[in-house]
Amino acid sequence: MASVTFEAVTRSFAQAERPAVDRLDLEVSDGEFLVVVGPSGCGKSTSLRMLAGLEPIDSGRVLIDGQDVTGRRARDRDVAMVFQSYALYPNMTAGENMAFALKNLGVGADEIRTRVAEAARVLQLEELLDRKPAKMSGGQRQRVAMGRAIVRDPKVFCMDEPLSNLDAKLRVSTRAEIASLQKRLGTTTVYVTHDQTEAMTMGDRVVVLRDGQLQQVGTPIDLYERPVNTFVAGFIGSPAINLVTGVPVRDGRAVLMESLQVPLPATGAARALDRVTVGIRPEGADTVGAAGSTGDDRLTVRVARVERLGSEVFAYVDPVGLVDGAVGTAEHMVFRLDKRQDLQDGAVLQLRVQLPEVLVFDADGHALR
Ligand code: ATP
Repeated sequence: MASVTFEAVTRSFAQAERPAVDRLDLEVSDGEFLVVVGPSGCGKSTSLRMLAGLEPIDSGRVLIDGQDVTGRRARDRDVAMVFQSYALYPNMTAGENMAFALKNLGVGADEIRTRVAEAARVLQLEELLDRKPAKMSGGQRQRVAMGRAIVRDPKVFCMDEPLSNLDAKLRVSTRAEIASLQKRLGTTTVYVTHDQTEAMTMGDRVVVLRDGQLQQVGTPIDLYERPVNTFVAGFIGSPAINLVTGVPVRDGRAVLMESLQVPLPATGAARALDRVTVGIRPEGADTVGAAGSTGDDRLTVRVARVERLGSEVFAYVDPVGLVDGAVGTAEHMVFRLDKRQDLQDGAVLQLRVQLPEVLVFDADGHALR
């Protein structure tokens, strides 16, 4: 077990406009499952590779268990990497693939047998030990790749999108398996994905990166309920949050419609803001029926399209009667509504918005708390 520390870690590639990873500060605790998430090109893999020793560090330091490993080769860091491609040796059986790194480390044959057998048991790979990768399914190869990391009993697991080659159903079951395996082994794990659902369901804490810069680190619920900016708010949650920009402020309230007035959080109320962005989650409202009822939590919308998924219903809607200046959202707003609700395209509805859950951001996209 070990902690991991990134101290102002930076990596720039030639000809790039900005660093791929820009002064990354991060502390991963002993035994923690930390997920790094963000859109393509935000620097996730580069960060992980710098921890594993597969990518040079231009400036800053990486520490494992308090020891500076910045200048150490990958093999001397006691870190095991699981790649998206699995990187299995095609000419070796599953068992040989798992044993290979141990042989190279000079581990004795008996010890290797014991460790491979134990990993095979944990990962339910016993029947496959003599099989070569070409004769395995994607999910089985993925487990062998995990097994290869486990047998080394490293201080840290580094996992780079290990589920992206699996089909949707297998991905869901495997993510639960990996998370529970990590808890049993207690090995500090840094896990990279572009999939926010994976991040939310697997991570003890989640780090959101954008353009090489850390945006926020926190528990999944922290990121969902208290995003620091509109980027994190938009990235975490599916479907994405509805962000209405340019909403005028009157008497300490963000006024979207005369019937929908959101009190500004304390830091916003203390500032002389005239425009804000308001974020309403798709699950942050429910229907109250036809237009006409009153309140300061009512959003009037016209239904553009309805998606019925069986277990839930998504209504894509356009607000009706936003006040002057409120720009609305880039596309339709989307709400997850009661599946029993009779929703017709073109109908005008009133939604009751859960005001305490509404997020408010300043003109630069920073959250007001
Ligand atoms: P993805 O999810 O697409 O894998 P990522 O978040 O893991 O993306 P990185 O692979 O870390 O992102 O890349 C970060 C930035 O650095 C990108 O702009 C990428 O083009 C650039 N980059 C990565 N590796 C190299 C390289 N070897 N040479 C030049 N530029 C690179």
